Amino acid sequence: MAELLKGAPVAAALNEALSARVAKLAASGIKPGMCIVRVGARPDDLAYERGVLKRFAAVGIECRVLELAAAIAQQDFIEVIKKINADHEIHGVLIFRPLPPQLDEGIIKHVLDPRKDMDCLTPENVAKVFEGDDTGYPPCTPQAVMEILDYYGVELKGKRVTLVGRSMVVGKPLAMMLLKRHATVTICHTRTVDLAGVCRGAEILIAAAGKAKMIGAGFVSPGQTVIDVGINLDEGGNLCGDVDRAGVEDIVAALTPVPGGVGAVTSSILAENVVRAAEMR
Ligand code: NDP
Repeated sequence: MAELLKGAPVAAALNEALSARVAKLAASGIKPGMCIVRVGARPDDLAYERGVLKRFAAVGIECRVLELAAAIAQQDFIEVIKKINADHEIHGVLIFRPLPPQLDEGIIKHVLDPRKDMDCLTPENVAKVFEGDDTGYPPCTPQAVMEILDYYGVELKGKRVTLVGRSMVVGKPLAMMLLKRHATVTICHTRTVDLAGVCRGAEILIAAAGKAKMIGAGFVSPGQTVIDVGINLDEGGNLCGDVDRAGVEDIVAALTPVPGGVGAVTSSILAENVVRAAEMR
């Protein structure tokens, strides 16, 4: 049976270190502050927001939520972001994505101050991830994957790591982070030929396709570490990952659960980014 790589202990270790840093900031009169910008009220945004508010309260970070009308016009949205850029009490900003169709992310990503960009929306922070420059703010989910691998002592140097998914939110930035740590990275997508074979050949397999339970027994091999980034609903409406846990857990060496894996670490990474932004200021 595979070892379960749970997110909770990883998050707890991160939170403990963060509380100490927040206390140090408090001693110099600084309280880290974040603003969530939410357009409309999508259930998945609300669920993530609840988790963030709980975690931030526990660590000692102030968090404001700005709920904007689902039909907000682009210029009004831009004005809101400019106001936040100028607000000294706000060190970090999280804009929930995807944005509604009337808001052009291609324009908005140039408006947000990169020093307040906590989830790698701005071209400046994206470029830093691709250049391997640690002075920016990495995207929270890929960084959560890296924290889990490090916490459980999974060696990356020289290892064959296969990623399923090439989005700018997960796959591409994560590939760059793994490359920086000297992994040999393969990125798969919908046009990959013999996906199952490519996945079987990996030592570390990371699924970020957004397809419920697509990684079954035929995609894995003995000894593998499998990281499941997917958050999906199965046919019964229950939360599940991209990996068919029941089908693979007797084959692979280690596996992150869903829920309780990568998703449990993401808000701690967000908190770390905000604390760092406050320290930089
Ligand atoms: P996207 O839909 O933007 O990207 C999915 C990627 O997977 C694409 O590159 C796509 O390929 C590839 N893909 C989809 N289906 C297949 C398939 N059958 N075979 C091979 N490749 C496939 O999703 P995101 O990157 O935004 O998210 C991925 C998953 O991660 C989702 O389940 C999402 O909910 C979850 N997620 C979890 C987070 C967390 O905190 N745990 C945070 C963010 C996302 P192509 O490019 O060819 O279309």
